[in-house]
Amino acid sequence: MSAYAQCIQDLISELSHLPGIGPKSAERITFHLLKSRKEDVMRLAQALQDMKSKVRYCEQCFNLAEEELCSVCKDAQRDPSVVLVVEQPRDLMALENPGTYRGLYHVLLGRIAPLEGIGPDDLTIAGLTTRLQAGTIKELILGTNPNVEGDGTALYIENLVTSQFPAVQLSRLARGLPTGSSIEHANRSILADAISGRQQVKPR
Ligand SMILES: [Zn+2]
Repeated sequence: MSAYAQCIQDLISELSHLPGIGPKSAERITFHLLKSRKEDVMRLAQALQDMKSKVRYCEQCFNLAEEELCSVCKDAQRDPSVVLVVEQPRDLMALENPGTYRGLYHVLLGRIAPLEGIGPDDLTIAGLTTRLQAGTIKELILGTNPNVEGDGTALYIENLVTSQFPAVQLSRLARGLPTGSSIEHANRSILADAISGRQQVKPR
């Protein structure tokens, strides 16, 4: 039984569920907040509330957005004929970092992982198919992570596109990315090279 007041115990318990934060860190953060000015703590609480109540998925690409369309899809300067497919909004953010890519994205919100029971229907592939049917997309770049599940997911999309949308050119990010690594943690110049050096997927 803890000697802390219940509300302190509750906050420590909530914080310790966050990724990368164990009970010791949760305790440290709780006491930091306890010592902080009330306005600062309330701002944090407000930011958490806003994040949950305002953020939704972009209706076109499934990036995080505050309106129907995300800031990338709303940008009229970008080329809607090129679409880069990624697993998560975090990957999109990483690929935006170098500032060199001017096309749009499609966020799958996951990857095919049979061992975890995650299939194509659990991703936003239906939304991607709808976009391809609209006919604006001329090139699709497969930007899933370079690991077994990411490669499997890319292969699934490749098969879908070659069978249903043969006019769409398919490419993959260049393999400057080490196999088994993740896009999210790759550095800027590697990502810029991976986009500019993308390789066309040969028809099988
Ligand atoms: Zn979008």
